[in-house]
Amino acid sequence: MKSVLIVAAHPDDAEIAMGMRIRAHVLAGDYVRIHCITPGALAPDGSSVRRGEAEAAGAVLGVAEYTFSVVPDNYFTERRVEINTSLFEVFGRRRPDVVYTHYPEDQHLDHSVTSQEATTVALREANDLHYFRSPYSRNFEPNRIFAGTPELLAAKAAALDCFTSQEQLDMGVFRTLNTVAHRQYVHHRVVERFPPEMRHAELFHSARVIDFAPSPAQGVCAPSPTGREPDLVAGSGARAAVPKANACTRTSPSNGAPAA
Ligand SMILES: [Zn+2]
Repeated sequence: MKSVLIVAAHPDDAEIAMGMRIRAHVLAGDYVRIHCITPGALAPDGSSVRRGEAEAAGAVLGVAEYTFSVVPDNYFTERRVEINTSLFEVFGRRRPDVVYTHYPEDQHLDHSVTSQEATTVALREANDLHYFRSPYSRNFEPNRIFAGTPELLAAKAAALDCFTSQEQLDMGVFRTLNTVAHRQYVHHRVVERFPPEMRHAELFHSARVIDFAPSPAQGVCAPSPTGREPDLVAGSGARAAVPKANACTRTSPSNGAPAA
């Protein structure tokens, strides 16, 4: 089970960009969190319509946690320190294996500030960092393509239906974008070998992916979250509760027996 964290500027950004990918992570048994920098405009009593919509969408997709910082829309530049501090707190609560956030180049300043601050924290506190494409991304070139299915697309549509206050959200548009995405970036000879149900895609640009070498007998070596000593990590990525004496470097590669 991987710990997956998605950092988005606004409610609905994550669902628009990667609703299928989120649902697929959930179905794979991963622990998925979405953190939004703003819940949108607050009512006098502190409630937020968009926050409620986002939580409903998260429930549709099956995410484990949907959390928010309370930075006003369009004030992200002035509130960078607050955003940075809140992200370190979010990352520290459950260390993510995989982080997704906005692509750094974006016409919307809230998106680009979110990307810059999430990148700073993710490169220090997480393993893998992927950028998703938002409708306002600029100069975006994907190097990672997630081929979804009709079932995943239906889950994404159901999640987007939760954002009833966002009248510009038209799932017809996003369905078409997801359908053409693989045609836009993958040669047709490759697309023709896709399974027929995998004709919907979401696009990502990976900033960093760490592959851990497999250990024949005991799983995979990975750095400990403290950075002091390697832990032994099971093949799934879950940290196994083993004493430090069994650290991975003590396994002989030739026969799997403990080395002298
Ligand atoms: Zn946004």
